[in-house]
Amino acid sequence: MVLSKSRKNYLSDLAEQVAEEYCPKNLVVPRLISDDQSITYSFGDYKDAFDGLIEHDSGEFHIYINLDKAKNEYSPRARFTFAHELGHYYIDEHRNALKSGRTPSHPSHNFKSKNPVELEADYFAASLLMPKSRVKSDCFKRKFGMEVIEELRMKYQVSTTATLLRFADIGNHPIMVVCSRAGKIEWGICSDDFPFKLIKGIKSERKVPLYSIANEYWQSKREYNEVSEVTAGDWFENVWNEDYDRKFYEKCIYSEKFGYGFILSVIWED
Ligand SMILES: [Zn+2]
Repeated sequence: MVLSKSRKNYLSDLAEQVAEEYCPKNLVVPRLISDDQSITYSFGDYKDAFDGLIEHDSGEFHIYINLDKAKNEYSPRARFTFAHELGHYYIDEHRNALKSGRTPSHPSHNFKSKNPVELEADYFAASLLMPKSRVKSDCFKRKFGMEVIEELRMKYQVSTTATLLRFADIGNHPIMVVCSRAGKIEWGICSDDFPFKLIKGIKSERKVPLYSIANEYWQSKREYNEVSEVTAGDWFENVWNEDYDRKFYEKCIYSEKFGYGFILSVIWED
């Protein structure tokens, strides 16, 4: 299940209006929005139950943010969770469903769900914390490199994953991002104009491609801090012979955070 282009545009515009209303100049701070809308919230240690939750009772909304998974309320993860729950409040269909009691308050898990309601709230959250027109003007005429991602991540106080997904969606250079864990591909996403769509092996065993930089880690724990060269043939399926050696770059981001290790491979062409 993927959100349609028109739905994404709608959510992005909706979130941007909220960002412009409350935080037009500086960092978007979810609690400022919540305070103005009289939505109460609590940060607590809710173990593994959820990242966040929004509840409705007689016209009042309350948001719970799990700090057990995020270091503090200013962490990228807590900010994203808060923004996600605000999505359930600002998206008409979600709010109406909560008010009518048709949907139980559903626990949310960042980036973990394929449920369209959760995908919509995630998309709203990314758009609220990284408003489209701001990101577009930050990227304007910039040549792509990992330093662009790093700058965006710092400026918007979001996770690397959230930054990369947003950049793939609205950035100024086509990229692919592949998440792998224990040698298997968990997910891969790419910009609309990325030249190859199909990752090698993703339709079968989902093993990380043999000659990828990520696989060097999964096979022999070898880490590369620098950007490495790979070819289209190394990473993608359905590559014509003349494109097989087409040069791409791969930068691996190694994460051991929150107790589960994964690698994000960022792949792009000059
Ligand atoms: Zn949710």
